[in-house]
Amino acid sequence: MTSPVDALGARAAALDAEHAGSDLRHLFDLPEGVYLAGNSLGALPRAVPVRLEAVVREQWGAEAVSAWNTRGWWHVPRRVGDRIGALVGAGEGQLVAGDSTSVALFQTFRAAARLRPGRRTVVTDPGSFPTDLYILQGVAADVGWQVVLAEPHEVPAALDAHGEDVALLALSHVDYRTGELWDLEGLTAAAHEVGALAAWDLCHSVGAVPVRLDEAGVDLAVGCTYKYLNGGPGSPAFTYVARRHHDAFEPAVRGWHGHAQPFAMSREHEPAPGIDRVRIGTPPLLSMLALEAALEVFDAVPIEVVRERSLSLTSFLLDCLDALVPEVELVTPRAPGRRGSQVSVRHAEAFGIVRALAARGVVGDYREPGIARFGIAAPYVTHSDVLATATELRRVLDTGEHLADVEAEGPVT
Ligand SMILES: *Cc1c(COP(=O)(O)O)cnc(C)c1O
Repeated sequence: MTSPVDALGARAAALDAEHAGSDLRHLFDLPEGVYLAGNSLGALPRAVPVRLEAVVREQWGAEAVSAWNTRGWWHVPRRVGDRIGALVGAGEGQLVAGDSTSVALFQTFRAAARLRPGRRTVVTDPGSFPTDLYILQGVAADVGWQVVLAEPHEVPAALDAHGEDVALLALSHVDYRTGELWDLEGLTAAAHEVGALAAWDLCHSVGAVPVRLDEAGVDLAVGCTYKYLNGGPGSPAFTYVARRHHDAFEPAVRGWHGHAQPFAMSREHEPAPGIDRVRIGTPPLLSMLALEAALEVFDAVPIEVVRERSLSLTSFLLDCLDALVPEVELVTPRAPGRRGSQVSVRHAEAFGIVRALAARGVVGDYREPGIARFGIAAPYVTHSDVLATATELRRVLDTGEHLADVEAEGPVT
């Protein structure tokens, strides 16, 4: 008789063969073991060190300040922005790379208040990523908004209740803890019904889930690039502003790179036409050019194919968990259409589980409250990795390794 593990092993092999065309591991320098933290920091694309070496030596080293013109450094935020735009359904000239997600959120929320003057309510998910909540609360205090907390499934009711007082609906496309994927199209339409704007945080969907910003009529969006886009630690964020809002978009942080004529050196700020007005100051070009090289991974397969592979992997992970570790509580929705690209489980000893798995070479991460996250970056994760995760988790629970007094390695869980 074949054991459940043998049967799953055969399925893993068959699924990996079926999805061989979207296995992009050859484009990465992967750490040892099974890497399931790509939703926190994506793995290193092989193109990145090569590009960085060339940029540093041939551009910075050999051309120095001339490279701003000869290498088009001034236009890199737009060039990279359009490349990301292609992954999130944004037509050209509506997306720009730069700054951090937190700063991009501030720029976006403040500008939203200016786009909807007289309205005093903002609706957001209490389960939003902390920085999103903090920045929103700060902006709300500055501009005089009341913050109405509603989980995404309660949002239509909240919008009904506050009607035309709502200036902005601010949500994340995918919940960073549970991996739940929310209805971007439907909730954007609901916001528009009361005349509000919809701003989406794409941190956990860009590079993992196809997004159709233009088609859905989204007003504003931000996201980071060091998760599923593999841009590297601290790589720049991005901001999307739908073209119809460009002229009225008033940047809160008015830097010289967002000026209509940056080298006129004038005393007054005059916002640049189009998306350039979102720019602030000199961007981290090494990071931005590393990100540009990292994005070449997505030239190899369309984002729809990445999504198909991701769903196959996360579905298989659910099957493996059901079969091998039925006692862990799944917090990720089972319906594929409601799932981003991670699987999360809740357990009283989730932190110990994450540490014990890491000791066995399976790297996930821990988030409060009591959640172990397994990020599935489809380009470099395989069905065999997924099975290994479940079998190692079984061993951890059987041996009690998760109960050992584990010390945190540092401030990051
Ligand atoms: C990762 C993440 C951030 C990170 O913000 P930074 O400014 O890059 O630190 C913000 N929001 C969400 C939803 C995230 O997932």
